[in-house]
Formats: sequence, C-alpha cells, structure tokens
Amino acid sequence: EPAVRLRAVRKVYGTGQAAVNALDGVSVDFPKGSFTAVMGPSGSGKSTLLQCAAGLERPTDGDVLLGGVRLGDLSETALTLLRRDHVGFVFQSFNLLPFLDAELNVALPLLLAGRRPSRKVTAGVLAAVGLADRARHRPGEMSGGQQQRVAVARALVTGPQVLFADEPTGNLDSGAGRAVLGLLRSMVDERRQTIVMVTHDPLAASFAGRVVFLRDGRLAGELAAPTPRVVA
Ligand code: ADP
Ligand code: ADP
Repeated sequence: EPAVRLRAVRKVYGTGQAAVNALDGVSVDFPKGSFTAVMGPSGSGKSTLLQCAAGLERPTDGDVLLGGVRLGDLSETALTLLRRDHVGFVFQSFNLLPFLDAELNVALPLLLAGRRPSRKVTAGVLAAVGLADRARHRPGEMSGGQQQRVAVARALVTGPQVLFADEPTGNLDSGAGRAVLGLLRSMVDERRQTIVMVTHDPLAASFAGRVVFLRDGRLAGELAAPTPRVVA
C-alpha cells in the first residue's frame, strides 16, 4: 500500500457565495520511498493538498489514508497523535526557536511527544544533515541553508513515515537550496523516506522522481523522471 493515498478529495473553504473549491476531486498515491514534487500556479490548491494529506486539514469529501489508516475515521486526538508520530513537516520559513541551539531545536518534537531525547539520536540526526559541528549554534548563528537543514533534522527525528515540505527552498539562495534538496534526495535514496514537496521552482522539482501538476484544484498532469537529475 502507498505511504499516502488521496481518494476523490474535495476541500471547500467558506460557504455560499464565498465558497472556494480549493481541491475538486483529487485522487493520487504517494508510494513508499518516493519523492514527489507538487507544482502548479498560485491558488491551484498545492498547500491545501499538502495540508489534507498531512492531516492538518480535514477534506470536505473523500478520503486520505496514511499508511493505510483512514484519517476520516480518527478523532482529533487520535489524528494529533498519528501526526506527531508518523508525519514530519518542513516549511518555507524554518520555524526554529531562536533561543534554542540546533540540538535542542531538533530534540523538541521528542520532548513534546514525552520521549527522552538521547544525545545519540539528536546528534545522529544532525550528523545526517551534515551539521554535526553546529549542534551548539543557535539559528541566528547559522546560514539560511543550515537553518533549513536543522528544520529537516527536526522533522526527521521522530522517524516519520512521510515528510511533507511546503516550498522548503523558497527562502534560500540556489546554492543553499541545492544542499537542502540533495539532502532530501539522499533521505529517499538511502533511507527509503517518503517525501511530498510543494514547490514553484523547476530546479527543486528536478530533484524529485515524479512531478504532479495541479490546476484549479484538480490534477492536471504528471511527469515521471526515471533518473532524477541531481545537480549537486
Ligand atoms: P496554492 O498552494 O497552490 O497557492 P492554496 O491551496 O493555498 O493554493 O489555495 C487554493 C485556494 O483555496 C485559493 O483560492 C485560496 O485562496 C483558497 N484558500 C486556501 N486556504 C484557505 C483558507 N484557509 N480559507 C479560505 N480560502 C482558502
Ligand atoms: P549552506 O551550505 O548551509 O547553504 P552557506 O553556503 O550559505 O551554507 O554558508 C557557508 C558558511 O558560511 C557556513 O558554514 C556558515 O557558517 C557561514 N554563513 C553563511 N551565512 C551566514 C550567516 N548569515 N550567519 C552566519 N554564518 C553564515
């Protein structure tokens, strides 16, 4: 079964005259170990698709299945727990806490989950993103690319089934962006992580193995890259 499955997902924001069909019947699978880029014009529903797929928004109609679990069957509490344990997020703005160093930022999801963050785990994840020597640095003491790599480490520390990324390179220059994209690619290649990434940037999309296009809340097409181009 796929890591994430959307079946005829509709999402309507607002009511009556003001209703917006953000997603209008989207069915798509994200297989385990795949890296998919979601592209499309502004307002086409990319962020809404990501939020529904990640269980942050509930669809108006249709089903979202995460690891075979139908999110619509879960209470808010159960959904929160499933998200906490099985889903990672990376945003355009890195959302790091400025007063905590890199290692504590990475440890945060474990602390919030009531788990004891071991040095071995937090240091290991920081090493995996190439920041072993930045554990004691605070966000303000790091470059944008480094901060985003801390954000990726934070998203991966709980060992999530799926990593969702919304414009993860939107605030980075192209060099730093490539470093982050190469890191995401290696998570898929070496750890069979599943990644769904919204992006406007064709360079970013070229790191994914597959690109799905949205237009007006519907799937408008799809491209598979048999050999993803890695410009590292
Ligand atoms: P994209 O990420 O492709 O720019 P979005 O998913 O953000 O598209 O938005 C799709 C449509 O849904 C747009 O018309 C947007 O204005 C609308 N929309 C998104 N979020 C909300 C919201 N919270 N409330 C009302 N309308 C929204
Ligand atoms: P990355 O490889 O993460 O994209 P850069 O190439 O932007 O990082 O930066 C290279 C080096 O310059 C880094 O080791 C970092 O310590 C330093 N550096 C870059 N920008 C900043 C900044 N705004 N503040 C502090 N150090 C920075």
